[in-house]
Amino acid sequence: MTQSRREFLRSAVAAAASTALLPVPAVAQGAAPRVVVVGGGFAGASCARALRGADPRIAVTLVEANATFTACPLSNAVIAGLRELSAQQFTYERVAADGITLARTTATAVDAPARAVTLAEGTRLPYDRLVLAPGIDIRWGALPGYDEPAAAHLPHAWRAGEQTLLLKRQLEAMADGGLVVIAAPANPFRCPPGPYERASLIAHYLKTKKPRSKLIVLDAKDAFSKQRLFQSAWSELYPGLLEWVPLSKGGAVTSVDAATRTLVTDFGRHRADVANVIPPQKAGRIAKAAGVADRSGWCPIDPATFESRLQAGIHVIGDAAIAGAMPKSAFAANSQAKACAAAVARLVTGGTPSSPKLINTCYSLVAPDYGISVAGVYQPAGGQLAEVPGAGGVSPAGAPRATRALEAALAESWFRTITSEVFG
Ligand SMILES: Cc1cc2nc3c(=O)[nH]c(=O)nc-3n(C[C@H](O)[C@H](O)[C@H](O)COP(=O)(O)OP(=O)(O)OC[C@H]3O[C@@H](n4cnc5c(N)ncnc54)[C@H](O)[C@@H]3O)c2cc1C
Repeated sequence: MTQSRREFLRSAVAAAASTALLPVPAVAQGAAPRVVVVGGGFAGASCARALRGADPRIAVTLVEANATFTACPLSNAVIAGLRELSAQQFTYERVAADGITLARTTATAVDAPARAVTLAEGTRLPYDRLVLAPGIDIRWGALPGYDEPAAAHLPHAWRAGEQTLLLKRQLEAMADGGLVVIAAPANPFRCPPGPYERASLIAHYLKTKKPRSKLIVLDAKDAFSKQRLFQSAWSELYPGLLEWVPLSKGGAVTSVDAATRTLVTDFGRHRADVANVIPPQKAGRIAKAAGVADRSGWCPIDPATFESRLQAGIHVIGDAAIAGAMPKSAFAANSQAKACAAAVARLVTGGTPSSPKLINTCYSLVAPDYGISVAGVYQPAGGQLAEVPGAGGVSPAGAPRATRALEAALAESWFRTITSEVFG
């Protein structure tokens, strides 16, 4: 007996509907879903806690190499002698108190088909879903002459800790009248306004402690985040002290000589007394080992779930991810972590993730009592995270100093709030 076209369509629709309604168990019946999070920074620690908050049945393991996390936001103030490094440091006690299993080690490999992470000592950790939040690694050698030993002479201070203190000590040891040079990288990199906040606070240090000195920023770009606000503040606060050299005027550093602290550009050589080289970066190395980094070194993701476009079952959040219009910031990492946790909590229980809206605000200090900010709202559009038009903006140009002082206080209170949410 032949089926009529109408009957065929009716049964096909009924079959599709019943499939859609069938619960798809993502994990074995009765077993607690297992999520492993690699990296206990702003993205990973936030995600681990948000997963437990979303569904306490999920068994969450956080793999983090260090016992103490050292935060980058406000670390430029440490370099300028305005803050102690200890104010940047946080432990994982409260994270563990949430019922998260902590693995104090490094994840070295991922077996995506078998869904297992290998830890440094060889243990295999099985997962139903894996979240990678490894932050950045330096692309050693991408800038000729800048390898790991060179960083001991020309600190990058782009991962907070010893490098931060090294740069601070070098500035303290420099004689008044010295030349400080900062090399800023091409996009994309961690914290787009970070090099310019650093230049500002080092300029503040020089103005107040070593006023005959000079600071040059050699930039591999012609434009940067909050540029007009920074530049107008520089001409007000640091005239003649801070010089920014864009790409088009010979700013791109093409090689360095660590022994003589020399930064070479196509237009000349700059022999510095203190040189801060912020080098090209890539996703933390576990991303490549897991097969989730593309040729750019960063990780393409689905903008609604943060699931890797290269490996099923692995999500990537924070600086390591290619998050469209979202900058690589701690605020963004925390925002992505919560959206990813909500999606993963649904996926491991057979649900369907909803489409998120994410926010970011980046504060920068131009002086201790002078803050500026940029904010944005983002949502999935066209396969990427796109900025919602008209929802964000920057601090007003020409605002009174009281407004700048208020924003400086907001920067500090934002830091207290986010670190207490993530680690407190
Ligand atoms: C100077 C400076 C100033 C900044 N200022 C601001 C600011 O004002 N506001 C702002 O929002 N952002 C700021 N940022 C950016 C911010 O620090 C980063 O965007 C943020 O830290 C990204 O979070 P993450 O979790 O992706 O990476 P991270 O915070 O770096 O965390 C990654 C973690 O993963 C761990 N890890 C990596 N690989 C492994 C592995 N294989 N196994 C186990 N653990 C691993 C690391 O030990 C680390 O703890 C600043 C950055 C810099 C450098």
